[in-house]
Amino acid sequence: MKVNGKRVVSRLEEIYQCGKKDDGTYTRMAFSAEDVKGRELFASWAKKLNMTCRMDEAGNLIAHMDGQDNSLPAILMGSHLDTVPDGGKYDGVLGCVGGLEVCETFREEGYVPKHPIEVIVFTDEEGFRFGKGLTGSSAICGQDPDISDSELDIYGEARGSVMQSYGITSADALKAARDPSSVHCFIELHVEQGARLYKTDTPVGVVSSIAGVNRYDITVTGEANHAGSTAMADRKDALVAAAGFINRIPEVTTEYGNEFTVATVGTIKVTPHSVNVIPGTCTFSLEIRDQDAELMSLIEQKLRETLGDICSKYGVSYTFVPTSFHEPAPMSEWVKDNVEQAVKELGIDYSVIPSGAFHDSLIMTSVFPTGMIFVPSEKGISHSRYEYTKDADIENGCNVLLQTVINVDNMTSSC
Ligand SMILES: [Zn+2]
Repeated sequence: MKVNGKRVVSRLEEIYQCGKKDDGTYTRMAFSAEDVKGRELFASWAKKLNMTCRMDEAGNLIAHMDGQDNSLPAILMGSHLDTVPDGGKYDGVLGCVGGLEVCETFREEGYVPKHPIEVIVFTDEEGFRFGKGLTGSSAICGQDPDISDSELDIYGEARGSVMQSYGITSADALKAARDPSSVHCFIELHVEQGARLYKTDTPVGVVSSIAGVNRYDITVTGEANHAGSTAMADRKDALVAAAGFINRIPEVTTEYGNEFTVATVGTIKVTPHSVNVIPGTCTFSLEIRDQDAELMSLIEQKLRETLGDICSKYGVSYTFVPTSFHEPAPMSEWVKDNVEQAVKELGIDYSVIPSGAFHDSLIMTSVFPTGMIFVPSEKGISHSRYEYTKDADIENGCNVLLQTVINVDNMTSSC
């Protein structure tokens, strides 16, 4: 039994077109008209397969196919259809379209799995609109997605009115929580969004774990003063101290981390932000990612020490405030083994790799047995219009998903 690769590729293109904007970019921001259009298309394909399609209280769109015994827990597949601004064709969409393709292949082959099957389009995975993502998967897992109807998006629109496009409200989101006993496992097919598979020319990645992410806000405080009349020796320049620290981050991370450890400063601002004033404060973000929570703590500690040394050298003070913490998330061993078994059965070359990027699976694996399948992103590019995965890799990935579902379907209980 094999999927129809051409159908998958053409559906990826069709959904991509749903994100077409007047400025020539392709963006399906969560809850936008483009996003709704993409979901309607997905639902229309599901309905053609006689799958029922419903939306839960958190806005997750769920296509359901009966199994031989619907009292058994369901096998879940899926991912997200929302994109970042000017996003790509594959991120998220592949997991949704691939999940439907598995169902369509079953229908065509007259194969009825023992377990019921569901393909989920999760709500607002990307999270750039309100500054927090993984909304739908958090709600399904019974974890508070921390949303309210009154919070404003980056355009100043209230969540309550924005979410009307789905017909949902923040207060009801947690009603989407699912009983873990109703789920056999969850399997997400996704593009790697990194270059490991691409660089090694490996068609499939069996994901071992998803990196944890710790985020901090750092403020260095010096003294704002006249840029013309303050001698160099008399300055307490917050930006110079911050720059000295930021410059050391790669070195410290490489010295104490491993090949997967990354640390990034992604935002920075100075006050008073004037061409003729020495910066009095410099505030910036710091993010540390790794597969090992202890190592992340060690990197944090070493970076704190480095910041402390540099600030005392420049006579400035600092604060180092944790803002969020996500533990590294290992995939379920038995689901991972089933994915690996499926790749072997198909005779496809693969490697076992961690994921540096966030996915709905990061949340799902905390409650449900979860596995992930990666296919290569050309040159490691993602979250971009230049995101590209070869048709052959897409077909391989969908076939691995199909075979994995068949394998887990044949397991009587999750061990
Ligand atoms: Zn994604």
